[in-house]
Amino acid sequence: MNASSKIEGYSFDNKTAFVRVDFNVPLSETLQITDDTRMRAALPTIKHILEHNGRVILASHMGRPKGVEEKCSLSLIRLHLEELLGREVKFAPSAVGQETSRMAKELKNGEVLLLENLRFFEEEEGKPRGLNPDATDEEKKQAKKDLKPRQRAFAEQLASMADCYVNDAFGTAHRAHASTAIMADFFGEEDKMFGFLMEKEVRAVDQILNHMERPFTAIMGGSKVSSKIGIIENLLGKVDYLILTGGMTYTFAKAFGGNIGNSICEEDKLDLALEIVEKAKQKGVSLVLAKDAKIADAFANNAQTDYADTENIPDGWMGLDIGPKTIQQVTEVITQSKTILWNGPTGVFEFDNFASGSKAVAEAIAQATQLGAYSLVGGGDSVACVNKFGLADRMSYVSTGGGALLEAIEGKVLPGIAAIQG
Ligand code: AMP
Repeated sequence: MNASSKIEGYSFDNKTAFVRVDFNVPLSETLQITDDTRMRAALPTIKHILEHNGRVILASHMGRPKGVEEKCSLSLIRLHLEELLGREVKFAPSAVGQETSRMAKELKNGEVLLLENLRFFEEEEGKPRGLNPDATDEEKKQAKKDLKPRQRAFAEQLASMADCYVNDAFGTAHRAHASTAIMADFFGEEDKMFGFLMEKEVRAVDQILNHMERPFTAIMGGSKVSSKIGIIENLLGKVDYLILTGGMTYTFAKAFGGNIGNSICEEDKLDLALEIVEKAKQKGVSLVLAKDAKIADAFANNAQTDYADTENIPDGWMGLDIGPKTIQQVTEVITQSKTILWNGPTGVFEFDNFASGSKAVAEAIAQATQLGAYSLVGGGDSVACVNKFGLADRMSYVSTGGGALLEAIEGKVLPGIAAIQG
């Protein structure tokens, strides 16, 4: 993936830009925004276009509506967007239609039009709704096929409102939806581009996968091997050190014949764990598995605690974080690395008593970064970790895209990126 800054060089003067953003912000029960990070992340792109005399149509999804649902309406975020932008934001009560097209046409330079939730239309995702619950697989397949031309027409309608297309929604780049990929077909090569956020994400993945300096260390954590296997396999061809921590530690310890007490374990993945160990050997990757664990007699922050070797955990106890020997070992590896990727906590970091391992990893990455390493942190919980420890701004890049980042690291072509890069 190679991304030069096309948006920087593009002339938005007197043009309408369709900007696909990710405004899928979490809302409280009373429908108040609880975290506006995703909205803030899109501001540089929106402001750039407005400051360069362009007009902006903003489109996003929110939640997983099954049709029109008030609690998923983007009208809920309009006022906050006005505050963030310091200007009026017009609202189109439907993503497409005559009224919306008219509002788009009447936009003046420097004005913003926010469209209603794209996913109020089944055409956005291309997933048929209202199917008979008894529909056969064949019928479901046919319904999906029947929806395809309408999905394309929906994408064309969205595209018809604008002169250029800007995709700044990295979080949905792994989806081939109307607004994230298909509508790019209706713009010439020169009129479609990434927004600033998406450019940064694409560059970060490119840096990690294609331009890394060695030693390259990946730290994988989280709860399960099964959800990380695609990434682990792709990384085995690239990294020098692979540190596997978190809940998956115990699937490996069990596969080696150890006693893991009540620790989390995927019994059906024991063979897979041994295959990973073998593959790492073949590829010359130094696999670092946790030697010791901080154990608990219950899954609770205030449980009794102790330390044990990961292959020798007493019955009735469970490993909820890495222990001091492992902390020392991973810290040494990380601080000597020149490229670092971190996905997934080393333990149940949500409990303060089991957060030390994740905190030590975050601190070691911050230290290595200060010494000139490139560090990318991404994928859900590790982002929450660096935020919890106040270390986010000491990483080279903290990704905003959970699933999309993981698929990119797995080496998959993301439809939202391919639609622009070709
Ligand atoms: P994932 O979404 O797969 O990255 O998993 C993240 C979750 O894994 C976090 O909520 C952690 O609390 C959890 N986790 C990490 N280590 C353990 C462990 N040893 N036992 C149980 N859960 C864990």
